[in-house]
Amino acid sequence: MRKPFFVIVISVCLVLSLGLGLFGCKQAPKEKTFFAMNTLMTVSLYGDSALLDECGRLLASLDRTLSATDPTSEVYRLNHGGTSEDEHVKELLDKSLALSRLTEGAFDPTVYPVVRAWGFTTGDYRIPAQDELTAALSKVGYERIAWKEGSISLPQGVEIDFGGIAKGYAGDLVKRYLLDKGLTSGLLNLGGNVVAIGAKPDGTPYRIAVKDPVGEGYMCILPVVDKSVVTSGLYERYFEKDGVKYGHIVDPSTGYPVDNGFLSVTVVGEDGAKCDALSTALFVMGPQKACEFAKSNALSVVMATEDCLYVSSDLSSSIAWKGEQNKRVVTL
Ligand code: ADP
Ligand code: MG
Repeated sequence: MRKPFFVIVISVCLVLSLGLGLFGCKQAPKEKTFFAMNTLMTVSLYGDSALLDECGRLLASLDRTLSATDPTSEVYRLNHGGTSEDEHVKELLDKSLALSRLTEGAFDPTVYPVVRAWGFTTGDYRIPAQDELTAALSKVGYERIAWKEGSISLPQGVEIDFGGIAKGYAGDLVKRYLLDKGLTSGLLNLGGNVVAIGAKPDGTPYRIAVKDPVGEGYMCILPVVDKSVVTSGLYERYFEKDGVKYGHIVDPSTGYPVDNGFLSVTVVGEDGAKCDALSTALFVMGPQKACEFAKSNALSVVMATEDCLYVSSDLSSSIAWKGEQNKRVVTL
């Protein structure tokens, strides 16, 4: 279920990144917007417009496969005691488990029962009772999934949700398809996950705006060639109760929505699925641990708290800050 607010925020991100990304190009891109994975997805390309419809079909088919709530999906079947042989599910599970290990469970696709207990899967938001949360937490743990090859099945009670990685993976898939078709320049915006395919036709980098997590508009612009820019933000999906904001990124070690000072975390890199999972994981880690993790793993990041903008050294020289944002920058 989506909330109008969510759609509005995504639309703002979309207009911003596309507007800024393509501004200045003489040749107009061909563009189409689809609705998949509970969000708006826009494909803009410099090339054969017939490719746009095929991108839409790819996104819709991946959505049908990966949805945790659609009773006909592969993931739903897995979550209800069935098996799956689907190549996308296998690749995503493989990637997810590797990233769960790398982040020591900050990213964990088995957190689904907890995400559901808070109502984030349906939009019927609620604060679960502690015993309900404890029961949901007892089902969480990526280490329990022992899958190597052949068909996948999950241990009793374990349920997965690719919500923290699926859009990044979808971007990689569409990019791969377009490259195979000979495309050399394009921009995908899959609900705030932006993928630059090559550079703009004039050879200059795409300029991707990162949303200001508190104010209106954007916080900074990143020049990007052939990379994904993925942001996890507290503003993206949350509910408020008694003055407290509960966001849809959950700490698998406590069962609670994260509340650690981060407002948004952006990760830039070639592997969009990895950027997506890592933006979620860094968000869970919180500022101190995330800064250490980003440094020791040489990640390209922009991470915002109320007081500071933590930026990896590789991005700090090329980033364009809006207004006086640069005064809060801490280079990692
Ligand atoms: P968005 O989808 O808004 O871009 P994220 O990529 O951060 O944001 O994904 C958040 C989604 O990931 C949640 O809606 C939920 O489905 C799932 N999720 C929440 N917490 C975790 C976690 N710790 N590990 C893996 N997936 C998570
Ligand atoms: Mg993510």
